[in-house]
Amino acid sequence: MPYRQNLSSIVGMLNRNDISSVELVQCFLDRIQKHSDLNAFISTDPEQTLKQAQLSDEARARGSSSDLSGVPIAHKDIFCTTHMATTCGSRMLKDFISPYNATVVELLSKSGAILIGKTNMDEFAMGSSTETSWFGPTRNPWHGDHVPGGSSGGSAAAVAARLVPAATGTDTGGSIRQPAAFCGLTGLKPSYGRISRYGMIAYASSLDQGGPITQTAEDAARLLQVMAGFDRRDATSLNKQVPNYLDHLCTSIAGLRIGVPSNFVDDAVNSEVLDAIHDSLAEFEKLGAKLVEVSLPSSKAAIPCYYVIAPAEASSNLSRFDGVRYGYRTDSFNDLDELYKKTRSEGFGLEVKRRIMIGTFALSSGYYDAYYRKAQQIRRLISDEFESAFKQCDYIAGPTSPTTAFGLGEKTNDPVSMYLSDIFTISANLAGIPAISIPVGFDKLGLPVGLQLIGQSFDEQGLLNLAHSYQQVTNWHEVIPTEFT
Ligand code: GLN
Repeated sequence: MPYRQNLSSIVGMLNRNDISSVELVQCFLDRIQKHSDLNAFISTDPEQTLKQAQLSDEARARGSSSDLSGVPIAHKDIFCTTHMATTCGSRMLKDFISPYNATVVELLSKSGAILIGKTNMDEFAMGSSTETSWFGPTRNPWHGDHVPGGSSGGSAAAVAARLVPAATGTDTGGSIRQPAAFCGLTGLKPSYGRISRYGMIAYASSLDQGGPITQTAEDAARLLQVMAGFDRRDATSLNKQVPNYLDHLCTSIAGLRIGVPSNFVDDAVNSEVLDAIHDSLAEFEKLGAKLVEVSLPSSKAAIPCYYVIAPAEASSNLSRFDGVRYGYRTDSFNDLDELYKKTRSEGFGLEVKRRIMIGTFALSSGYYDAYYRKAQQIRRLISDEFESAFKQCDYIAGPTSPTTAFGLGEKTNDPVSMYLSDIFTISANLAGIPAISIPVGFDKLGLPVGLQLIGQSFDEQGLLNLAHSYQQVTNWHEVIPTEFT
């Protein structure tokens, strides 16, 4: 069954002509339809997708193919696409068709990948459960009453249920890693500046970063290879050479020092999660890595710091959605003021409004110094602490999230408890450094546990190699949720 294969095997099957792109795409389209109750996708366009697959097969028959030729992939609905709507999970953009493609979308399409659909997400990427989407929540394929994580929950659920071999996501405070952890997948947040943000709808511009959600680290390396690189249209993308990520896999990890911060493995973490994390660390020791204790005391301030900086940037980024330039416009209004007010009241959901209000407050004169400036100082402290921790170790490890996937509706009325599910992921965004989540076990309910590995700036290849080494000796990443086998 081709859908059971990971991205790398699928590339092999296509290259050997074991399967055509049309057959492959049809198989995944059928599955997307069959499992539509997961609500993993916001848009698909089967006719157009099959046409692309056919063109890809014809090109291959003429001897012309590239890295990902004919491979279906899905994009989080935050990446602008000209051929399908780009909603960002919001009523505000529910019918928005972008006049251009995001750089990530362009690059993947140039490498031959075929866009099979746009995935569900928390509205404007604000959330940890995909429940704030205007299009309704996505379900976790491991347990239908649980959330898939967020905000890239549609992408994670789609890959976990084998509705697509791989998908893109974005991560501002954990939105690639946490859903990857909740769905038993590999999710990589690259260093800030590694992947272009051009055409990726902005939430908090100094934290947002796109990345792959896949079954394996090898698949993540394959996608990152295509997605990474300088883009002159994004002033924050870095002009730094992109290494060959696949070539770096399979390097021995013997002698590497893995730092374990004591506050990452304390009682605030669910005991079943902790057990799986400790077992995985023992596995790394067997592979020759050394565990060392490190200290990241300021990371406990990461959540309050993030919830000043991210909303502040969001309040500015989202001011463009005013009923004049993009998307939704209210039906009736008497003057311009009323047009703005009604459009924004009707177009945005509760969580987005909450963030705009917090951000506007934190930036207003009189409060700027007390909140925004303070948060920037804490951000610097967090970054400095990582730098000194990396003098004692090469990587930092701990749980991706303190719990496994929580129940649908369990945290919707308690935003702060929702925010806490990102306690371990947010620091890497504040410091701009890369981090990956990989599956390392299950809890009693059969829900996956994720291990987070954090690396130094632009050491994606080291992280991928570490994750790949673990995946060579374990098989958590191969398990498929029973209903979807
Ligand atoms: N859950 C966090 C938030 O709500 C992070 C989201 C993200 O990474 N996009 O802001």
